[in-house]
Amino acid sequence: MTTQAPLIALVGRPNVGKSSLFNALTRKRNALVADFSGVTRDRRFGEAVVEPMGDKIVRIVDTGGWMPEQWRKNHDDKELLQNIEVQILKALEEASVIVLVMNIREGVTSLDEDIVRYIRKLNRPFVIAANKADKLNEGYQIGDFFQLGADEIIPVSAEHKVGIYDFWERLMPYFGEYAKGEKAEKAPEDKIYRVTIVGRPNVGKSSLLNQIVGEERAVASSEPGTTTDSVDVEIERGGHRFLVVDTAGIRRNAKRKDEVEDLGVMYAKRNLNDADLAFLVVDAAEGVTAQDSRIASLVEESGCTAILVANKWDLAPMPIRDTVDGLKKFSKMMEKEIPFLDYAPVVAISAEKGRLYDSLPGADAEVVLEPLKMPNTLDDIWTLAVELIEAREQRIEPKQVQELLAEALTVGPQWGTFAGPMKKAHQVGNRPPQFMVFVKDANKIPEAMRRYLSRTVRERYGFRGNPIRWVFKHRADR
Ligand code: GDP
Repeated sequence: MTTQAPLIALVGRPNVGKSSLFNALTRKRNALVADFSGVTRDRRFGEAVVEPMGDKIVRIVDTGGWMPEQWRKNHDDKELLQNIEVQILKALEEASVIVLVMNIREGVTSLDEDIVRYIRKLNRPFVIAANKADKLNEGYQIGDFFQLGADEIIPVSAEHKVGIYDFWERLMPYFGEYAKGEKAEKAPEDKIYRVTIVGRPNVGKSSLLNQIVGEERAVASSEPGTTTDSVDVEIERGGHRFLVVDTAGIRRNAKRKDEVEDLGVMYAKRNLNDADLAFLVVDAAEGVTAQDSRIASLVEESGCTAILVANKWDLAPMPIRDTVDGLKKFSKMMEKEIPFLDYAPVVAISAEKGRLYDSLPGADAEVVLEPLKMPNTLDDIWTLAVELIEAREQRIEPKQVQELLAEALTVGPQWGTFAGPMKKAHQVGNRPPQFMVFVKDANKIPEAMRRYLSRTVRERYGFRGNPIRWVFKHRADR
């Protein structure tokens, strides 16, 4: 067998999000590991694609509900253990790095300390994944984590897939030679973007789905076993592969009208979690409602790339319908109702007629508008989608981030008292684009400053269609 890929072991007390982290790390590669020598095929053993290593593979094990008490008691009596348990113990002893998953909101518990005592005996490098750092602007206090003696403390949100790229970057030093040298060829089949169509009932989600996936869908549906509540349809557009999640199940599984609404929100939550790109569909004839706004906030929270789809443009009121000014007005109205999605471009379409009328770049971008285009086919929506995904995938060098921020803070409003000079800042992820900045007092960063910095970053780098997140850290914690 060739050199085995490095192995990472996830440990931690229950409910800290080990399985979610496991899923987030292995999401691009659902296959179970075949050459995990002697391993039972089990959901807890998987492989992960390490993005900053050019998508090379590492092996990963989730120790599940294993607790130090069991470990200690059973460690010397492997005969008594189930096969799977022996494998977990072996994995812990052989791991290139052990990842202790902790809950950033709960700090250090005595159980955490117990686990740390155990894993230190194993003499492996160990890092802490400080999970549930979802609200990245909250300036969590991770000071207590330092006393545990981990080699690294890495904030992540497994649920929202935030900080995963940074997580890999900081684990790479523990992979030794494997992380160096020839990068593995990128396996193109791994690069597939998950797309979800969300919106309240009757805005035209199914109509849009039928239009944009067209024939491919017919193929998918004719396969046996596609009667589950959603069918993923794989398509290729603009040289990229997309997996579009079918939402038809919402209607099929609902008995009453209000149930359709609830299911709509439920499906949106579930699908957004995994999505790279969301089409948020609204009804141009009815305008934006409170429920649209509710779903829009789920889109924002998920951090995925977003496109606002003003559907039924053919039914939009008349002065709005056929002028660029009308589209601009509609877009302003949307921005008023859902200001937190102002980075998302707006496209006016008719799913029923299969037409895309025009698009606006998103309310916060400066644009020169051209007259409304001749209605085009809906395929143009993919041109836009590819553009936004490529915008998201930019990575900005730390030096450039620092220069940009330093510049912004000399010409912009004066936040110097708690921000101080921003000497250290870097991009820590791009799903969504996320920046970490070390400041004097991370707890005092005002919302206005985040917005100002986002605007500054956007002016230079675009990141159109994507939210920008900021993590502020106390400089003293470095
Ligand atoms: P969903 O509940 O969001 O999946 O909505 P559907 O796709 O089932 O559409 C709801 C209704 O709106 C259906 O009667 C569609 O025919 C109609 N519809 C959808 N898109 C358009 C459109 O662009 N223009 C017009 N005039 N009607 C549409």
